[in-house]
Amino acid sequence: MQPIEEIYPLLGQPRKVVIVMHQKPDADAMGSSLALSRFLKKLGHVPTVISPTNWADWLKWMPGCAGVIDYEFSTEKASQALSQAEWVFCLDFNTMTRTRHMAEKLRKLSVVRILIDHHQQPESQSFAYGVSDTAKSSTSEMVYDLIAGSGHADLIDIDMAACLYAGVMSDTGSFRFPGASADVHRMVAVLKDTGLNHTRIHEDLFDNFLENRLRFIGYVLQSKMEVFYEYNAALIAIPWKDLVRYEIKTGDTEGLVNYPLSIQGIKMAALIIDRDEEIKCSFRSKGNFDVNTFARRYFDGGGHVNAAGGRSSDTLEQTVQRFITAIKENSSQLQ
Ligand code: 5GP
Ligand code: MN
Repeated sequence: MQPIEEIYPLLGQPRKVVIVMHQKPDADAMGSSLALSRFLKKLGHVPTVISPTNWADWLKWMPGCAGVIDYEFSTEKASQALSQAEWVFCLDFNTMTRTRHMAEKLRKLSVVRILIDHHQQPESQSFAYGVSDTAKSSTSEMVYDLIAGSGHADLIDIDMAACLYAGVMSDTGSFRFPGASADVHRMVAVLKDTGLNHTRIHEDLFDNFLENRLRFIGYVLQSKMEVFYEYNAALIAIPWKDLVRYEIKTGDTEGLVNYPLSIQGIKMAALIIDRDEEIKCSFRSKGNFDVNTFARRYFDGGGHVNAAGGRSSDTLEQTVQRFITAIKENSSQLQ
């Protein structure tokens, strides 16, 4: 993988470009992809943004979101864009498996793949150019670096700023996690100079749910959360029938895993959800406990030191048992 800076001199020549994000995209994946798309369009390129799956309703306010192709829903249209593309940017993921049913197609495509990502252990051999930096707060910050680094900071408009702000704000837990560096705050100052209304973005992301989600959270915290004080860990395990009962949609469970971390002394929290098609796991930690390694070792996943995800093909009960065994095995690291 050649450094991303090597594409800077090539940006002047218009191309057909596809931008792909990870499945069930979050605000960083969607925001960074939309901002990059808008930037490339301003340079004369013809970009198409593809998500491997559908996405949460609370991302739909993002400028440009209506034009994103859902690969699962519009496979033909997405495949056509992919087959015509000269460049494929891969944003906010670094292994093809994160694109679900698109993975096979992406791997086989003979095209210039470009990586922009901040997760651990990239599949570097799959990319011609790229940047992979786990010290970066978000992929949105990295897209900003690309725009500014290639000498085009003047092209950042209020719509790009909104997308980038949403991404960095969301991935830093509203500027609370260690990734919220001085550089991040300097970037936010530049974004604010476009006229960006940051209050509005916090409302669009966090005050944009329906009543059922709040009722669901109440129920889950009351009935589905287990605290393992001995291991400074906590778990929320949710059966499929509860998702159906509360009409839970894509994105409604985002952030739920953080609640147990607000309990004094808890260093690691897990959320295990039976989504029917698969069991999805989310892990969060504080301090040194490395959930990326934990997710890789026990749950076929990965991510960052303090935020990672994975999956399981066992039943919910078996997965919960495996989680309990895993925290016992990690008991000393959790002290
Ligand atoms: P979440 O728990 O919000 O789904 O994911 C937390 C973090 O881990 C995100 O940065 C996400 O991209 C990453 N992640 C989630 N699931 C997986 C997975 O299965 N594999 C890898 N490598 N990363 C994941
Ligand atoms: Mn991210």
